[in-house]
Amino acid sequence: MEQFDYIIAGAGCSGRSLATRMLPYLEATNKRLLLVDQAEKKTNDKTWCFWEKNADLFEPVVFKTWNQLSFASSLTNKNLDIHPYQYKMIRSGDFYAYTDKILTPHPLVTCLQGNVEKSYSEKDRAYVLIDGVVYSADYVFSSIPQIQEKKPDRYHYLLQHFEGWIIETENPTFDPECATLMDFNTSQQAGSSFVYVLPLSPNQALVEYTVFSEQELTKEAYSIALKQYIREQLQCEHYSIKEQEHGVIPMSDHPIRKQQARVIYLGTAGGFTKGSTGYTFRFIQKHTAAIVKQLINSGNPNISALSASRFNLYDAILLNLLSTGHIPGEEIFSRMFKKNSAMKILKFLDNESSIAEEIQLFLTLQKQEFAMALFNRTMKLIRN
Ligand SMILES: Cc1cc2nc3c(=O)[nH]c(=O)nc-3n(C[C@H](O)[C@H](O)[C@H](O)COP(=O)(O)OP(=O)(O)OC[C@H]3O[C@@H](n4cnc5c(N)ncnc54)[C@H](O)[C@@H]3O)c2cc1C
Repeated sequence: MEQFDYIIAGAGCSGRSLATRMLPYLEATNKRLLLVDQAEKKTNDKTWCFWEKNADLFEPVVFKTWNQLSFASSLTNKNLDIHPYQYKMIRSGDFYAYTDKILTPHPLVTCLQGNVEKSYSEKDRAYVLIDGVVYSADYVFSSIPQIQEKKPDRYHYLLQHFEGWIIETENPTFDPECATLMDFNTSQQAGSSFVYVLPLSPNQALVEYTVFSEQELTKEAYSIALKQYIREQLQCEHYSIKEQEHGVIPMSDHPIRKQQARVIYLGTAGGFTKGSTGYTFRFIQKHTAAIVKQLINSGNPNISALSASRFNLYDAILLNLLSTGHIPGEEIFSRMFKKNSAMKILKFLDNESSIAEEIQLFLTLQKQEFAMALFNRTMKLIRN
């Protein structure tokens, strides 16, 4: 049986983030890493957007940065000064190429293409079964989705599903310095829906139509919504579609196991997708950085929770409101952005706010409906 010190199962965003962060530690300790994925990961299959205060490890592949965001709805329009944050975009194709260049030739890293059938722990070792062959390590880090039985009586399950087009317009249409974080001026029939517009130049932008609901839409429905938004809100008739992206991100308050003995879960599989927003990229970076820090400090990768547990409750309350529709998403986010500074909201959505800041923010929201959602959510847990 081939033995390694560490195995990373799944070489997507979290697997590669961890592997790249681990390199100095591997070099210092002369430890060996196996990185395995079933896919080759050569295409640009995702665009990751996130906000952060300082440049992090993947700054070299940041494709575009914005210092200004805007929010729009039928209830409010606001330009958001996001200082000290910057909003950034990374194209996954660039990220895969960059990490391939660093990881593939490294003498302490073995990259393998194969299907991981199973990850498990026994005594003081961890194992993965790849295409019928067993490999062992001190620890396995897995970003391969865990199979979980849904419990709709207890928890909420929504999907954030979206279709985005990079369009090129004939005439200058966009302000490349300002990205639209959410524009709810789109049909709300299928669920809370908004468009975000990420301008790459005066003539080019990623325009993405996003819906929070239980079911995906037909391909045609996304297309109709995007065409309508481009025509009516961007007032643009002549454009060509350069690239397309479709995605589904699970949004749930169902607790996810983060570790099973010597198997540690990463990324979406480890519950690092924020239940109420779908944002994951920054949580992955914080999680993988914390693992490596712990390895350096103590030689083991076991870390305590990344965020206080109260943030799971906040996500559950927001999910309850979004899934019951007791207040439309448009009203919740409009109130939030109208009455609070962008800096406070971004800090809160990063799970980094203090309790005092959270109370201030909650007092600006629809207090009665939020209290009712808290009550409903608590009753769901007690009854089931
Ligand atoms: C289209 C799209 C856009 C997104 N945009 C954003 C965004 O803007 N901002 C943000 O914060 N989040 C975003 N997300 C959410 C999240 O950041 C991404 O899904 C991110 O890729 C999650 O990283 P991960 O490592 O958990 O999963 P992945 O990146 O999907 O990596 C998991 C890897 O496991 C591999 N794998 C799965 N099963 C097996 C198996 N049996 N054997 C071997 N390998 C296997 C897969 O091939 C994959 O490479 C987006 C998600 C999607 C789908």
